[in-house]
Amino acid sequence: MPFVIAVPKELAPTEKRVATVPEVVRKLTDSGHEVRIEHDAGAGAFYPDDLFAAAGAKIAFSRSDLLSGARIVLRVQPPTVAEVDQFDEGTIVIGFMNAARNLDTITRMRDRKVTAFALELVPRISRAQSMDALSSQATAGGYMATILGAANCPKFLPMLTTAAGTIRPATVLILGAGVAGLMAIATARRLGAIVEAYDVRRAAGEQVRSLGARFLELEIDAEAQGGYARELTPEEKEKEQQMVSAAVARADIVITTAAIPGRRAPLLITGETVSTMRPGAVIVDLAAESGGNCELTQPGTTTREHGVTILGPLNLPAELPSHSSMMLAKNLQSFLALLIDKEGEPVREFTDEILAASLLVHAGEVRHGPTRDLLNGGKS
Ligand code: NAD
Repeated sequence: MPFVIAVPKELAPTEKRVATVPEVVRKLTDSGHEVRIEHDAGAGAFYPDDLFAAAGAKIAFSRSDLLSGARIVLRVQPPTVAEVDQFDEGTIVIGFMNAARNLDTITRMRDRKVTAFALELVPRISRAQSMDALSSQATAGGYMATILGAANCPKFLPMLTTAAGTIRPATVLILGAGVAGLMAIATARRLGAIVEAYDVRRAAGEQVRSLGARFLELEIDAEAQGGYARELTPEEKEKEQQMVSAAVARADIVITTAAIPGRRAPLLITGETVSTMRPGAVIVDLAAESGGNCELTQPGTTTREHGVTILGPLNLPAELPSHSSMMLAKNLQSFLALLIDKEGEPVREFTDEILAASLLVHAGEVRHGPTRDLLNGGKS
């Protein structure tokens, strides 16, 4: 049985993305579903209402027109408590949920018996690659970090031989070579910079070198389960700090992306290290949202300390809204293909490994253990 899929306009002030795009709407309406798009939901990402309407969507001019009878709601950011109150019992909401920072929303979804799937909980197994929204959005974030760094750098990035003299290429240092870091490296290389990179996971070295960058080696390996990083010991941290500080001091642009899931971002650049940098150097701290990799980062603002410009952007993928939305929409389309059975109904049992892992709230219960622990008194 076809059903209604609703896409609200995102309410967060910095959010320009939208959870679906006309190309994906066309696929869903061709399968017989009714897709409703809230008026202007795609405006920030340059997908106007008429493109959605041409793809078969209905444009809803009020929240009640959008949500009444909707079975599935697609989102970028988690809904607010007030938005959850507009959902019918049993509505399925899919999007980034950032549960640890939105416990009030989680509680309300539990109490109203809303079902919520969190995109950030989709396991990183090969079968789930097409649904990996963390990766698609980190790709956009990493690209934008290099573009921002270049735009704030007072120098050219490539080597130039001109009648007015020869320009040496800029040096770009990337700290953290996960999805965002690798994209930042590739973008800086395309702009002609000399690129150095560091990650606590040695396995990242091969990927870094294959992009034409130099990998800074430290004689430790901190890869833990699932391909993520583990926390370093105090001695390891000291050695890492010295090597990183020397590389920071010689860089024109430093892009930091180091993260440990569920934890504060590791501190990699102290205020003292910033004072050793070249005047005009730039730091783009992609970890600003989780505390920052640089001690002097101020989340959400740009500051200048010791002649160094320090950017602490929040939600960088939203600054590339057309393509970030398109990639996210495709991730959601793949997720829906798993959630909707052959009869065109949402599956009743979420036994599939991907659905089970990303199921946050269902039937009046918080299904994600760490979130349940947080709600039950702070155990994380
Ligand atoms: P992330 O955003 O959690 O962290 C970014 C990077 O910071 C990671 O590479 C991490 O090792 C690094 N880091 C942590 N502490 C550091 C420190 N003190 N100094 C320097 N670097 C530090 O990571 P991510 O980009 O989401 O990816 C994590 C891993 O998962 C990567 O190996 C990535 O290739 C892998 N991955 C696998 C799949 C898949 O198999 N489907 C999909 C996406 C990512």
